[in-house]
Order: sequence, then C-alpha cells, then structure tokens
Amino acid sequence: MRLSRYFMPILKENPKEAEIVSHRLMLRAGMIRQQSQGIYSWLPLGKKVLDKVCGIVREEQNRAGAVELLMPTLQSAELWQESGRYDAYGKEMLRIKDRQDRPMLYGPTNEEMITDIFRSYVKSYKNLPLNLYHIQLKFRDEIRPRFGTMRSREFLMKDAYSFDLTKDAAVHAYNKMFVAYLRTFDRLGLRAIPMRADTGPIGGNHSHEFIILADTGESEVYSHKDFVNFDIPAVDTDFDDVAGLQAIFEKWTSVYAATSEMHDEAAFDAIPETDRLSARGIEVGHIFYFGTKYSEPMGAKVQGPDGKEHLVHMGSYGIGPTRLVPAIIEASHDENGIIWPASVAPFDAVIINMKPGDEACDRISDSLYASLGNAGKDVLYDDTDERAGTKFATADLIGVPVQIIVGPRSAASGEVEIKDRKTGARETMTAEAALNRIL
Ligand code: ATP
Ligand code: MG
Ligand code: MG
Ligand code: MG
Repeated sequence: MRLSRYFMPILKENPKEAEIVSHRLMLRAGMIRQQSQGIYSWLPLGKKVLDKVCGIVREEQNRAGAVELLMPTLQSAELWQESGRYDAYGKEMLRIKDRQDRPMLYGPTNEEMITDIFRSYVKSYKNLPLNLYHIQLKFRDEIRPRFGTMRSREFLMKDAYSFDLTKDAAVHAYNKMFVAYLRTFDRLGLRAIPMRADTGPIGGNHSHEFIILADTGESEVYSHKDFVNFDIPAVDTDFDDVAGLQAIFEKWTSVYAATSEMHDEAAFDAIPETDRLSARGIEVGHIFYFGTKYSEPMGAKVQGPDGKEHLVHMGSYGIGPTRLVPAIIEASHDENGIIWPASVAPFDAVIINMKPGDEACDRISDSLYASLGNAGKDVLYDDTDERAGTKFATADLIGVPVQIIVGPRSAASGEVEIKDRKTGARETMTAEAALNRIL
C-alpha cells in the first residue's frame, strides 16, 4: 500500500478525551473514530489489526473443533421471554420495536438464539459433541463506556456455544475452549491468566475469566506469580484426548488466581508473600459451563443411547477482539507509539522513502516495494512528501515491526537501513540483503 493512496488520518496532537495510552495511540494512529458514545468506526489501519486478531481467534477455535456460523445482531424478544432473560437482563439491553410494533433487541449475547438453532435441527446424541461459534457485533448499553474500544457499547465478540449429552462431556468441551484460549492469547503476544470468576447474567456454576495484567485494567485480581512461567499447550495438542486436556486444565488452575468477586483472602494469604500478585487486569475472555440453564426452559433435548430424551448440557465461551486490540497496545508500546507483535501487525514492513523524487531513493524504494509485494508481503510504502522526521515519527507511532529506511546518501551506493521497531536497533545493508532479511 502506497501511503499517498491510503487512508490513515494521523493526529499530531494528543486527543484530550483519551485517558489511557491504548486509546490515545489508537486515535493518534488513525485506527478508530468514535461515532457516538461508545460506538466506533474501525478505520483502515485499525481494521487490518482487528482482522488479524479475529484470524488468530478463528484458527484456534477451528483447531479445537468449533464450527463457525453467523447469527444476526437483531433478535426477537420472544426467544428471550422463553429463557426468562428478557426482563432479567436490565438496562444493558437495547430494546427496539419494528414497524409492526414487534419487540426486538440488539443482541448482547446469543445463548437463546443458538439454543433455538440447536433444538430445530439436532435430535440425537449421535450429532454430539457440537460447538458452534460466530464473530459478530454485540450491543450492551454500558453505564460507563470508556477507554475507546476497551469498553464500548457496540463491540465485536467471538462467542462459541457447546452442546453435550452429559456433564462429563461438557467438561471436556469446556477444557477444549480453555486450551484454545491459552493458545489464542499467547499467539496475540499476551500472557492471560485464567481466573475463577463470577458468572454474572450468563449464569452457571463453572467459569473462568482470562485476564491480562495491566495497570489500566478495570478488574482487581489476585494471583500466584507462577503463571508467568507456565507452558502454553503446543500446536499439535490432541483435542480429543480427554485426560490430556484435563491435565492441562488442572495445571493451569493448580495455583491461586481469582478476581475480586471470587477472592478468598485466606487462601491468598497462605501463598508466600513474595509469590503473591495483587494487581489490575483486563478481562479479555470468559468461559462458562451452565448445564441445562437454557436447554431446560427452551426444550433443547436429544435422544440418548438409552432411547430416552435428555436435556443437553451447554457452555458458552466469549472473547472480545475489539477489546483485545487496545489490550495488546497496553501491553506493548513505548513513548513513540505502538509496538505490534508480528502476528497482528497491520503491515509486515514499512518502506520509508526519505526523499521522493531522488532517483536512487525512488529506484530502490520502488524495487523493494515491488519485490516484497510479489513475495506476498504486505508492505506500507511511505512515498509522501512529508519531512523525513515526520515519516519516522509516523512509522514509530503505527508500530510496524520492521522499517526499511531509504535515504539519498546510502541509496546512491545501493544501501538502505533496517530498523527494528521493538529494539530500535538499526543496521545498514544492501537493498538485496534487506530484501532477504524480510522474505
Ligand atoms: P466486563 O466485565 O468487562 O463488563 P463481561 O463480563 O460483561 O465484561 P462477557 O459477558 O463475559 O463480558 O463477554 C465476553 C467478552 O466480551 C469479555 O471477556 C470481553 O472480552 C468482551 N466484552 C464484554 N463487554 C465488552 C465491552 N463493553 N466492550 C468490549 N468488549 C467487551
Ligand atoms: Mg459487562
Ligand atoms: Mg466481567
Ligand atoms: Mg465476563
């Protein structure tokens, strides 16, 4: 992408409304724009990162055996009256009427709708286990939307729903998501700690929140320090291995970790003081097992091997991609801007042509841009007439992992400079060597 043809509205000034660094940097880098309170457009640069995050979430859901579909954002109130949650959900739910005066709502979550889909088609235990998910917008009329897309009213959620014949099978389904979550957050460059959690309006009795430690987090959390060194389950983890997954779950829940709602002072105090971690955290994912809470009122039953009808055991599993983008920034930035982990970076590299119009600068920049593009790399080419200093500041701000700096002096001798955004290390080399470094 040539920057001269792109849409990346960089802000020079620090926006006053932004209280935390991720919000400030997302606005300054032209990633998002607030359209009304807690409702955001994702501008091109932000959309690229969001898509990368969703891509990793999707890959790990699929690896764990979940199946993707897409449900609508608007739902009929009837389904929620069936489960009993229509009145219970309260003011966070945005209620709407259509032209026939039928009550509708903008879905804050999808347990009812997925249960309705399930009961319409699945009649036998032979079709289980089943886990269906989508990545779709939600709306919650938060009392205090803030921190940009960290707590917005409209936000993207990956929500998965599992269906099983028995509680034991449902626990295995829960463990699959537990492991998928560990892998997902790790691939996003984050260390998330699973913590015993309150189930809130989703309900149920077995639940973990995945929390990233950050000073700007809204949750108060207490945990053992050991989590920092736990191994992430490998890419070839066998998701059908019931005992294997249970062992991973037990390892990751063997030491203390709880949010303030579930905090057990005595258990925490039993940990040696130097191993205690009392911090702030950001909830990036939340998984629930809730048994027959929805299958019972909504009549989601399958025929078991015994020929009898059984209510299905369910769980639901949420991740917030539009919250993860700022969470990644909170975890990875410096005074000059964002430092994207390569896995979610909006571009693989940025070519900074310091002097467009200079024959050698143009020749080398154009040729690197073409070669990298042909090799399938996604490269941003700063071919604008801005001052070199402004270009460097922009490249640092948007956090692309590698910068290729093409200046008139070195270009004349066929050389460029490569800068690593994270370490700041610079190295001069031939254009060809730079190409090979990135390919
Ligand atoms: P919170 O405690 O932050 O209000 P929640 O517990 O209400 O979140 P869940 O119902 O567990 O949220 O939803 C699953 C995931 O959706 C959360 O873990 C989070 O990543 C994301 N999420 C929830 N609310 C928001 C929001 N207002 N803005 C952005 N992401 C959100
Ligand atoms: Mg909430
Ligand atoms: Mg919560
Ligand atoms: Mg939650």
